Amino acid sequence: PLALIQGYTSMLQMLGDLNEQQTSFLNKISEETEKISHLVTNLLDLGRIEAGVGLQLDIKPVDDVVERVIAAAQVQADQKRVSLITKFEQATLPPIQADQALLQQALFNLVDNAIKFTDPGGEVAIGLRLKEDRVEYIVEDNGIGISPADQQNLFEKFFRVSNQQDLDEGGSGLGLAIVKSIAEKHSGTVHVESQLGVGSKFFLELPLRQSQN
Ligand code: ADP
Repeated sequence: PLALIQGYTSMLQMLGDLNEQQTSFLNKISEETEKISHLVTNLLDLGRIEAGVGLQLDIKPVDDVVERVIAAAQVQADQKRVSLITKFEQATLPPIQADQALLQQALFNLVDNAIKFTDPGGEVAIGLRLKEDRVEYIVEDNGIGISPADQQNLFEKFFRVSNQQDLDEGGSGLGLAIVKSIAEKHSGTVHVESQLGVGSKFFLELPLRQSQN
């Protein structure tokens, strides 16, 4: 139904000239439909992941997901004038066994937030560090930062920082709950280090191999 609303909204504009107010109302309908659509997708994703729909395990080099996330987020970063860079210390990288689509979704959510909450001219870096049989993906920004009190609740469903300047970003507070759920499904963890006005660093740590699946 949401795709249908979107479709008819854009078709209305093709049927004849609209005055300024009509165009502005249609744009509003379109924007809000987009937000509901995003919310429904997030709710369905979280429901599916929590319900334990089996992981589709696949083996790919650990940096493969980073390349895919950068390709997906580059346009948004360019539009916001935020530079997107990678920071890898190691030259040769091992493979990781994971549900590659879910892994991409988790890393993308972190990068998407980092871009959203960083001012134009800022920088978002995606790094990775190997720790014996685990890998840690690190998403670092020099954006608005998160207070210690808010960091406590950050990964809870529907949690959003209340006093931030970017409330009109229109998020639903599910992005980080999805990251946490995906990490846990892979026996991994996610945590944050952040300082208000300085920036945030999110750490997504996962085993390179899944034990029994
Ligand atoms: P949303 O979809 O609303 O962004 P998330 O669960 O992804 O929900 O994030 C929850 C809240 O955490 C955001 O509303 C924002 O206030 C804060 N947040 C997340 N990532 C960052 C970041 N990199 N810098 C500053 N604040 C962040």
